[in-house]
Order: sequence, then C-alpha cells, then structure tokens
Amino acid sequence: MSETCADFLSAASTATSLRVRPVKHLIDGQLEGSESSFEVVNPSTGGACATCPEGSRDQLDRAVAAARRAQPQWAARTSAERRKLLCRLAGVLREHQAEVAALITLEQGKPLARAVDEVQRAASQVERLTSVVLDKEVLRNDSTGRVELHFRPLGVIGAITPWNMPIVLAVPKITHALYTGNTVVLKPSPYTPLATLRLGELARHIFPPGVLNVLAGSDRFGQWMSEHTGLDKISFTGSVATGKRVMASAAVNLKRLTLELGGNDAAIVLDDVDLDEAIPKIFAAAFANSGQVCMAIKRLYVQDKVYEHLCDALAELARSARVGDGFEPGVQLGPVQNRPQYEVVKGILEDVPRARARILAGGRALDRPGYFIAPTVVGDITEGTRLVDEEPFGPVLPILRFREVEDAVMRANDTRFGLGGSVWSRDIDRAALIAARLEVGISWVNHHTGADALVPFGGAKESGIGREYGKDGLRQYTETTSVFIPPDP
Ligand code: NAD
Repeated sequence: MSETCADFLSAASTATSLRVRPVKHLIDGQLEGSESSFEVVNPSTGGACATCPEGSRDQLDRAVAAARRAQPQWAARTSAERRKLLCRLAGVLREHQAEVAALITLEQGKPLARAVDEVQRAASQVERLTSVVLDKEVLRNDSTGRVELHFRPLGVIGAITPWNMPIVLAVPKITHALYTGNTVVLKPSPYTPLATLRLGELARHIFPPGVLNVLAGSDRFGQWMSEHTGLDKISFTGSVATGKRVMASAAVNLKRLTLELGGNDAAIVLDDVDLDEAIPKIFAAAFANSGQVCMAIKRLYVQDKVYEHLCDALAELARSARVGDGFEPGVQLGPVQNRPQYEVVKGILEDVPRARARILAGGRALDRPGYFIAPTVVGDITEGTRLVDEEPFGPVLPILRFREVEDAVMRANDTRFGLGGSVWSRDIDRAALIAARLEVGISWVNHHTGADALVPFGGAKESGIGREYGKDGLRQYTETTSVFIPPDP
C-alpha cells in the first residue's frame, strides 16, 4: 500500500524522531556499503542526522564497468520499452513520495510541502520528457539520394548533482540518459545524498543490473568521475567554479558535457507593471527554497516610479515570512543548506553596509541553531557590490533602481552569468521584445523560474554549456551519424 505524507509523518512527526534507514550505494543491481563513511547534517539543527557510505575509487570503477556491460542490451531495447520502465520509476517515486520528501526536508531543509512538490515534479518530468519522440530525421531526399540523421546513445553517462534540489535535478538526468539508450552512474552532493540513494534503492528492481548505478561520494569522487575514461559524458549541475574543473578534467577523453551552472538572474520591472499580481510572484521567485534556486531572481531592477512601492511591499513580505525547520507546519522558508554556504551569505551581508545600501528587511543570521538567515531585502544598492555582482544563493534580494529601460537591459546583461531573466509589464508585446534581448538561456514575461520538460533549459555565457529538456536536451545525450544513401538505380 502506498503511504501518504500524513501516515509517514504521524510515525515521525519531526526531524528528531525521523528514523533514517541505512542508505547504500546501488552498484550493478546490488546495494553496498563502503569502508568509509561521512555524516549528513540536518541544516535546521546543525547536527548530524545520518551516516552515509563514502564511495571508493574501486566502487566507482566497478559501477562504470557494470554500466558499460549493461549498455548494449539496454540500447537494443525500443524507446517505448525504455519509456515504460522510466514511467515505472515515476510511479514508484509517487508511491514513496512521503518518505522521499521527508528525506529531502531532513537533509536539505526545505518545507515538507515543497519537498513533496519536488518529488511530484520529478515524476511528472519523467513522463513528459519521455513523451518526446527522437526518431531519425531525413535531411534530404531527392534525385541525388537520401541523407538521414541517426541518433546513437553515447554510452555511459556520469551524472553529478548539487544540494539545492537533489531529486528534481537527478531524475531528469537519469531520464535523458536512459531514454536515449545510455546507462548511468549518478553521484549526488555529499551534503544531500540520502534521498538520491533511496531513489537508487527504489529503482533497483525496475532496471536491469548496471543500467542505473547510484553512489554517494565526496567532491574528489566527482573529480574521479570527470576524469574517468570509462564515462562518455558528464551531465553536471552545480557551481560555475566546479563546472570549469569538470570541463578541464573531462578533456582526458573528450567527454561530452552538459553543464548546468550558477546564475545571477535579473528581473526588470517596468513602471506599468500590475503591482498586485507581480509582488507575490516576484517574492516567491526570489525567496523560494530560501533563494537556493539556480534561476531565482537575484537582481531586481525596478523603474523609478514604482521603486519605493515595490521595496516596501517586498520588505513587508520578507518580514512576515515564517522561517524555520521544514518539518514545522506553516513554515515557508527553511535554512541555508550547509555551513560553507551560510558563511558565504553572511559574508555578502557584512559587505552591504560598506556599499551604503539600505537594509529594508532582515540583514542578519537568526540567533538559533542551524543555518538560518532572516529573509533580507536591500534597497539603494548598485553594481560593484558583492550582493549584486556575485550569486548569493541565499535568502537575500538586492533591488536596483533604473530610469531608462535601455539602461536596465544593459546592466542586466553586464555579467558573466546568463541563466535566466524576466521582464514585468502590462504591455506584454513590449516586454516580450525586451525579454528576448536578455543574454540568457531562458527568459520570461511576468513570471520567473520553472523548467518545462518539453522546452530546452540551460545557461548562456558562464551559466553553462548545452541544454537539458525537450528534443534539444535529449539530442545532447546522443551522437549523430549522417548516413548518405544513394538513389535507387
Ligand atoms: P558544487 O559545484 O559545489 O557541487 C556540485 C556537485 O559537484 C557536487 O556533487 C560535488 O560533490 C561535485 N563536485 C565538486 N567538485 C568536483 C569536481 N572537481 N569534479 C566533479 N564534481 C565535483 O555546487 P553546489 O554548491 O552543490 O550547488 C550550488 C550551485 O549549483 C549554484 O551555483 C547553483 O546556481 C548551481 N545550480 C545550477 C542549476 C542549473 O540548472 N543551472 C541548478 C541547480 C543548482
């Protein structure tokens, strides 16, 4: 019988009483521990909440070898068969959503309801992405003959994920790779390995041994993967700095790469905006997951006439947001996920007075255990400050003023990041033209954040290389062969 969130939580109503069953790697269809282990910390308390096995070099080699052995037979199945098994994974995720969501809240900190959303979104992304048909294409068919474009799997994909959304970032990587006939070795962040290892365990009886391998490990383990000549591609989501290291290491065998990296998204609010509609949406797009979203609004450019109103309204929402342990009912925002990131956000806040900006709400860490920062809104700030120029990846929003739209577009684009951006206005056509001029991979009008499984997603500039989702995303897990066929004699 499938458990419900309520059933699960009545048995374990708070993080402290949540019993985490021992987690293991999935290697070649078998669950395994390791000689070494590390502690997983609950960011709402700062204390250890579980012990996780730490994958060794030998275990990685065995996982890669198993994935290589399993790949030809997996690729020989039809895409319909592969879709069927992937949709079973989606079903199993939904059946176990209460448990998986509780693990996400425990290790990542987000409110439980948001963790449930994450699991449900991951499941539906599987179904939507595998509805895309990736058949051979005929490029030319005339008296000179026919040219066909065939898509072949690359082989074995190494997938590496960060800590902000462990399941909704891992499951689509598995889906892209397996649906296109590749096999996978997946490594979650060492900060949030629990839900992903549980996912591997749940998938164990769905896929043949070796098709999906899930191993927890340190950053060094990620580097071993990037350098491993048995892997044909790395699909990486994480920071720009690590993405550059992955790219350098992957050169060893010219691995294919998808790099989904950090962002510093700008939202441009024009003075004809519908304020009542925009304000809650902008707040959510900046502060969801306590700002730990790659495509969160991280720089808010607001036109003169509506500047003060927007500052006041967002500050009010920040002051009234309920911050706390994600297991407490009614909590809207959880902690920053780990101590190093907490120190980064605190350092950025310490820099704000030097910038002579106005702190409109928050501005400090909360005096309680765990890694909590008060939701912070900063006005009268400009470029050339850490808060504006860097990716804070925490619950802190700078609001910048502009007079001319051209100036806002230029400033929004004046960054090495290029993930997402948005324009807010009642004049949708005008806003759409401006949104198309943002130097980013995804832009929105009167909206910000969200990935659609049928639409390519990824970053421009240093926010990444390649795209995930849609036909474009699937193609990037394949090699193309152009086949020239002569005309019939
Ligand atoms: P990170 O780069 O520190 O770590 C990400 C993963 O890389 C972890 O699993 C880590 O163990 C591994 N790793 C570390 N060193 C490695 C190496 N040398 N080789 C291979 N793997 C290595 O990132 P993080 O702090 O976990 O995540 C936050 C960052 O991720 C933010 O910048 C955020 O914007 C970005 N992000 C981007 C997207 C996107 O889709 N563009 C989505 C979510 C998060």
